[in-house]
Amino acid sequence: MSAKLSLGDQVVCHIRDNAFVSIYEEKYDSLEIFEIISIFDEGYMVYVPQSRYLDFEVKIDKYNYKKYNMKERFIDSKAAYINEYKIVKVYKHIDGMTCSRCQDFFPMAEPNNEDGTMTCWSCKKYPYR
Ligand SMILES: [Zn+2]
Repeated sequence: MSAKLSLGDQVVCHIRDNAFVSIYEEKYDSLEIFEIISIFDEGYMVYVPQSRYLDFEVKIDKYNYKKYNMKERFIDSKAAYINEYKIVKVYKHIDGMTCSRCQDFFPMAEPNNEDGTMTCWSCKKYPYR
């Protein structure tokens, strides 16, 4: 990960025994998605759902939310610190492509031309529309 992430970005992490594991470790129990709610020089804090328990999670309260650089609405939430070596990839809600011909966006579309572009079904069927 070299690009700096933004608040609200969602990241995919490897979890083992209720802890984040480095992307360089081969063994993990699950892939989970977390939302970034605070940004530091060397890492991020992610939101931990109430139903989830993670080692090293912290409870956000009115005394520490400023220290963690968080918005007030995260008081009473749980959060956990991660660095870039815990981020497998950025999770995208809408993976998809723009049609090379009509420029419409198609969710979940994948390249279907040899040059790596995508042409939608309508444009393929009616190339002169
Ligand atoms: Zn099209």
